[in-house]
Amino acid sequence: MSSKTCLTCQETLRGRSDKKFCDDACRSMHHQQKAQDELGSLRQINALLKKNRQILARLWQSKKSEGPKLLLQRMALLQQGFVFDFHTHQSSDSNGRRIQYWYDLGLMEEEDGRLALLLF
Ligand SMILES: [Zn+2]
Repeated sequence: MSSKTCLTCQETLRGRSDKKFCDDACRSMHHQQKAQDELGSLRQINALLKKNRQILARLWQSKKSEGPKLLLQRMALLQQGFVFDFHTHQSSDSNGRRIQYWYDLGLMEEEDGRLALLLF
């Protein structure tokens, strides 16, 4: 017979086999912890997205309004702390090329591997 333990305090559970917690206090503590963990990872991802946008916004501001499109090297972005793992949304242009966005600023990969900076 396998004995199950409380998900919060690891106490051995007695009674119904579908029990997960020894009491209501352990149950609510578990759900609170889970909510806090979720909030923590949301904050982390939001911080990464905002940092990415800041990096792109700085580059966008450095671009001359009448100049040609701004092409960036992936490595140069990485060196500034850019994280490609998360983006806010994506779309594709008329040629089916993917554009990834960080809020209002997007990157589209050119054939040579460089990234064109675009405004949404
Ligand atoms: Zn417990």
